[in-house]
Formats: sequence, structure tokens, C-alpha cells
Amino acid sequence: MHEIRIAEDLSAIVLETARRENLSKVTKVNICFGQMIQIVPDVFEFAFRETVRNSIAENAELDIEIVPVKVKCINCGNDFMVEENLFVCNKCNSTDLGIIQGKELFVKSIEGE
Ligand SMILES: [Zn+2]
Repeated sequence: MHEIRIAEDLSAIVLETARRENLSKVTKVNICFGQMIQIVPDVFEFAFRETVRNSIAENAELDIEIVPVKVKCINCGNDFMVEENLFVCNKCNSTDLGIIQGKELFVKSIEGE
């Protein structure tokens, strides 16, 4: 259930950003998660709702974008999307891979008034 800790961190960022931009209400929160973070969107949304309860973001709509995992083979230089957690180069079968994307975890933007 690491969603709860992540929800606490991200809601703090949302509220801090809203304060800096003098918003009286946050209407939408756009969040980006890499697939490697292994977020369950429903669980995250529930945790997020709890953490923003009674704040100016309590009714904000949540938009979660999941970024697929992309790696580059250290052995042959091939880069490819990882499917079903199969971390093996599809050209040379090497498991020596560097992660290019898929570990993102951030608030992309917020909307409010
Ligand atoms: Zn390779």
C-alpha cells in the first residue's frame, strides 16, 4: 500500500502549488506515474481523496497517466518497450538493461480558480 505515502507526498505538492498560485479551489490534478511505480489507480485515488479531505483540493478531478516502461540494452543498444515485466532484450536476449522511462512520479499540472 505505498499508494498512501505517495498520495500524501503528491497532495502536499498540489496544495503547495495551489497556495503559490493563489488558487481558492483546485479543480483538476494531472499526475504522471511510470509503470514501474506499480500504482493501482483506484487505490491511489482513494488514498488521495483521504489526504485532501477538507482542503481546497477535496473536489479536484484526478487524471492519472501511466507511462510505459522503456529500456535500452547495454549489450547491443536496442531500445524497446517492456511488456509484462519481461526484462530481456528482444534482439540479443541480454538482461543487462538500462531504464529510459517508467519510473516517473510527479504532478504534471494542476488546474483551479
Ligand atoms: Zn540487446
